[in-house]
Amino acid sequence: MDSLSELKDLLNAPKNVVIFSHRNPDGDAIGSSLALHLMLEKNGHQVATAFPSEFPSTLSFLKDSDRILIHDFEAEEINKRIRRADIMFFLDFSGLDRIDKMGEQVVLSQAFKVHIDHHLDPEPFSDVMYWDADASSTSELVFSFFGEMGFHRMIDSDIANCLMTGLISDTGSFKYNVNPKTFNIAGDLLKYGIDINSLQDNIYNRLSEKVLRLLGHCLVNRMEIIPEYKAGIIKLYKEDYADFNIQRGDTEGIVNYLLMINEVEIAALITEQPTIIKISLRSKGNISVQEIARDHFKGGGHKNAAGGALYGSMDYVVTKFKNLLPKYIKKI
Ligand code: 5GP
Ligand code: MN
Repeated sequence: MDSLSELKDLLNAPKNVVIFSHRNPDGDAIGSSLALHLMLEKNGHQVATAFPSEFPSTLSFLKDSDRILIHDFEAEEINKRIRRADIMFFLDFSGLDRIDKMGEQVVLSQAFKVHIDHHLDPEPFSDVMYWDADASSTSELVFSFFGEMGFHRMIDSDIANCLMTGLISDTGSFKYNVNPKTFNIAGDLLKYGIDINSLQDNIYNRLSEKVLRLLGHCLVNRMEIIPEYKAGIIKLYKEDYADFNIQRGDTEGIVNYLLMINEVEIAALITEQPTIIKISLRSKGNISVQEIARDHFKGGGHKNAAGGALYGSMDYVVTKFKNLLPKYIKKI
């Protein structure tokens, strides 16, 4: 019996399930996890969803998002669920270091492990690897996974809303990472009675004034363009974090603005966090920022969207990034 059939068999009787997704969860992490959570509960399972850190409050419109356990606040409860788990799902990340301390508990567990993801270089820690780097999003894969498990007829508008949120978030509203399947699945999801206009409003039109001003500040005062290497950099310092009272999630999407410049083909948002310097990378076409993140910034991601983090100063990380440009980008 192959491992997917084994999983299908396991899911025929009520199980204790834990779903994990990555730190700083985005719309796809939350959308795919909640869709799976709701679906497994409909099938009679006891389900907990656990993230290492908080998700942006703008995504709290998703059904049952208030039931997600956050390791930063509820470590004990999560550990209890991990100890009890028969099946674990790992959604939207490639390696266990992305779930921080929970990863240490996971490797000790005998639970049946299912990895559903679309990042490059997945680590082999699971019993089932449902993986496709060409998928737009993990939500797209969860939709296909529902088909494999015979769950399609149980999709309802709440579950469809979650999956559509993942599709919209990871494709920048169907601008990138799309393939024919993405549009087919989006079309299918619309049939479950979701309101796509209010969903788009919920995802994109819920910014605070502060965050829009922060974007302005980044573009006017913190942006550097390096024309000979078709590169753009935005740097955010600790003082910016204090001045704008920047919270988790507030810098989401800022790096994409750099790619709107015709000449820019590689973009970096470099931010000074309390203990680390985080780098968020984006590219156009054939430039693989995943390789750059993996080989130089202890990170990973996708070909055109990746990230990582290093200890050290802002200057160190900025200089390191600039020094790498000649290796990856042909000078004009
Ligand atoms: P973002 O730049 O929006 O934080 O992340 C872009 C992509 O890179 C996401 O798919 C995310 O999972 C991945 N990514 C971001 N930061 C890290 C990191 O520190 N490590 C790894 N492995 N991937 C990251
Ligand atoms: Mn994703």
